[in-house]
Amino acid sequence: MSIGTIPRFPLATLPTPLHEAHRLREALGGPERCPRILIKRDDLTGLALGGNKARKLEFLIADALRQGATALITTGAVQSNHARMTAAAARLAGLHCSLVLTTGVEDPPIQGNLLLDHLLQAEVHLVPAPPDKALAVDAAVDETIARVAADLESRGERPYVIPVGGSSPVGALGYVAGTLELVGQLAAAGEAPTRLYYASGSRGTQAGLVLGAKIYSAPYQVYGIAVSGGGADKDARALQNATEAAAMLGIASPVTEADLITDEGYIGEGYGIPTPECLEAIRLLAQTEAIFLDPSYTGKAMAGLIDHVRRGIIKPDETVVFLHTGGVPAIFAHGTRLLE
Ligand SMILES: *Cc1c(COP(=O)(O)O)cnc(C)c1O
Repeated sequence: MSIGTIPRFPLATLPTPLHEAHRLREALGGPERCPRILIKRDDLTGLALGGNKARKLEFLIADALRQGATALITTGAVQSNHARMTAAAARLAGLHCSLVLTTGVEDPPIQGNLLLDHLLQAEVHLVPAPPDKALAVDAAVDETIARVAADLESRGERPYVIPVGGSSPVGALGYVAGTLELVGQLAAAGEAPTRLYYASGSRGTQAGLVLGAKIYSAPYQVYGIAVSGGGADKDARALQNATEAAAMLGIASPVTEADLITDEGYIGEGYGIPTPECLEAIRLLAQTEAIFLDPSYTGKAMAGLIDHVRRGIIKPDETVVFLHTGGVPAIFAHGTRLLE
């Protein structure tokens, strides 16, 4: 069974461009010091300002509709890109959307993604969470999701619960399809990059990327830069998502634990708290390529890539792909702090 036969609800504008970052390479020391960097612009997927969740949601929404769902419930941090894009997908599919969002402050400002959630008319339920656990799937979140689901059912709705980050086996299919697209683009351009770097959170993207890389014989190895902790649990979940996604494609999963490469060295103080290196990466990409990175995910992933270049972990004669997974609306929840 091929990925093309699995039901998909069209949400994204595909294929996304592959852009060679010449000016960034110059700024990082030129060909003597820095590899060629190809940026896969999944910040340009469309669906209410773009990001990696558009690819997952194409499969998740199709699954929800197939099951006869009338409402979506999902969860994330208060500035969750996944929540914003799920709210957008719900509008396009004619579904109700309830969001259970964790917040470290009592009354989070209605900015960035949260502002867009309200514009998209999602029903927002806030749950307190300490800042360092902003992405944790904890008991309070599970309880609230159960209560919201029961409430929707009592109103005659049929809710479909999407896990944090859209990271289920069905969601993982998004980056199996995304890999097929990328591998085709690379082949057409005569490129054979050695590595792919991306920001790793709930790991559904990883499950799809590593499974896709195996299925389509990608030339590169997949390097996740973690934006939050919990590595061991997440490895197990990514492996399970890859296994179940492979089963949907009618194959035994070729993914092993050795394929799950995640560098936890760039998280800093915690999820959603930008490090100085993250802020430097955001400014550098804006100034060299006029591309915006975000303070929670892609800024940290690029900080990891830049550090690997500076430390010589990546050799100047290599070519690497940086998967820009989006997140740009979160910039507008940070204000001028990004300039510091
Ligand atoms: C969700 C997200 C990620 C991480 O994807 P996971 O599948 O949760 O690992 C990376 N970048 C951005 C901008 C995101 O919104």
